[in-house]
Amino acid sequence: MLFGTSGIRGVANKKLTPEFSIKLGLALGTALNGGRVIVGNDVRLSSDMLKYSFISGLLATGNEVFDAGLAPTPAIALASKYYDTGVIITASHNPPEYNGFKFWKNGIGYSEHAERKIESLFFKKRFELVNWNKLKKVRKINILGEYVDTIVGACKIRRRFDIVVDCANSVASLVVPHIFIKHNVISINSCLDGRFPGRLPEPASENLFCLKGVVMDSGADLGIAYDGDADRFVVMNNKGELIGGDILVAIFSRYYLENGRGRKVIVTTIDASYCIDDVAREYDAEVVRTKVGDVAVAREIVKRDAVFGGEPSGSFIFPDVHLAPDGPLASLKFLEILCSWDLDELVKEIPRYFLIRDSIKCGEEVKEKIMNYVRENIGSVFDGDVINVDGVRVNCKGFWVLIRPSGTEPKIRVTVEAKSEERARKILKRAKKLVGEVD
Ligand code: MG
Repeated sequence: MLFGTSGIRGVANKKLTPEFSIKLGLALGTALNGGRVIVGNDVRLSSDMLKYSFISGLLATGNEVFDAGLAPTPAIALASKYYDTGVIITASHNPPEYNGFKFWKNGIGYSEHAERKIESLFFKKRFELVNWNKLKKVRKINILGEYVDTIVGACKIRRRFDIVVDCANSVASLVVPHIFIKHNVISINSCLDGRFPGRLPEPASENLFCLKGVVMDSGADLGIAYDGDADRFVVMNNKGELIGGDILVAIFSRYYLENGRGRKVIVTTIDASYCIDDVAREYDAEVVRTKVGDVAVAREIVKRDAVFGGEPSGSFIFPDVHLAPDGPLASLKFLEILCSWDLDELVKEIPRYFLIRDSIKCGEEVKEKIMNYVRENIGSVFDGDVINVDGVRVNCKGFWVLIRPSGTEPKIRVTVEAKSEERARKILKRAKKLVGEVD
C-alpha cells in the first residue's frame, strides 16, 4: 500500500527517493492526462529533491505544473479548487527525516478510490509518456496572498491580543506576520529551517516548553503553536497550560452551534470525547463520528451539511471558509471567539471526563485476528451501543471504549473515557485484558 491515513509518508532517501517520487509523478500525471497541477512543499531538507523529481514525472506525462514553492498545507488545499489536483510535499508533524505527499481535489484530500487508482498505476508502471511537442512548462506562482486574504476576511476580531506564536521553524512562519498584523506578537522558532532546530514539528506538550516559558514570562494572553505543515493548531492559556484537543473541538462546536444558522450537525472522529456530545445536546444538535483522519471528516461535513468538524489531534475544519484542516484559520477563529468569551470560563463550561489513550504492541500480521476477536467478544465485556466505523467503539452509560489498530505503527490503540480517573483505569484494564486474550 502506498497511501496511509494521511497521504504517503516515509523517510527521505530510504523509502522516499528521487526514483520513488518520479514514479509517483508519472502515475499521477498519467491519471490526470494533460491536467493542471499545483505543487507546494514544506521546509524539510528533502522537499526540493522530492518536488523536482515529482514535477519531472508530471511534465513527462504532459501536465502543466504550477510551483507554489513553500506553502502551508491549507493554502495548497484551498488553491486546489482552481486546478485539476493540488499536491503538498510534507510529512506534517513527523520528525525531520520524514517526508510525504498529499493530494487534493476541489479543496478536499483525495478519496480512497482516487488514491487506489494512482497506486495501481504506480505499481504496474503503466505510465503514458507524451511526445516531445506535447511537453508543458512549470510556472512559479504565489498563492499566499490570496490564502491570507481568504482566512483573515473570514474572521471578525474586534480587539488586540498579546500572543506568543511558535511556528516550528516551518511554513506557518510565512503567513503568521500577515494574519496577526493587528496584534502584539512575539514569535519563536520562526526562521525557516528544515532541520527543525527549535523543536520537533509535532505540537505536543513535551515540544512546547519554550512557548510555555515565553507565554508566562511575557504576560501574553495566550500561546499558539502549529505543526510542520500548519494544518494543526494548539493553544495554551496565559498560565502556559495547553487546552486539550477535545475541549477545543467542544469550544468551536459551541460557537458554531450558537451562530450556525440552524444547521445542527457537528462532525468529529471516533476517538473524540463525550464532552462534544454534551455541548451538542444543549443545542439539540447531532454529533456524527467518522474514522480518524481529516479527509473522512471533510467528506462527512459535506454529506451532512455540518457547521463544524474537528479532531482531538488539533485538526479543525470550518466549512464556512473551506474544507481542509487549517491551523492559521483555527487560530484566527479562536481569537474571534475570545472577543466575546473569557478563555478560562469557556474551558470551565465544557464538561470534564477523564480520557486515557493507551496502546498494546502487536505485529502487523495479528492485527486483523485481534480485531475480529474484539468485535465478536466486546459485547460480553461491555454493555452498550457498538460503532464499527474505525475499529470498535462501545458507548456505555457514563463511559466509552475504543479499540482500533494503529494505521502507522505496530500497535492496537485502546482509548477509554469515563467520569473519573479511577473508573477509567478499571475500564482500561478490562479492555486491555480483552485484547490480550488473543494468542
Ligand atoms: Mg499536519
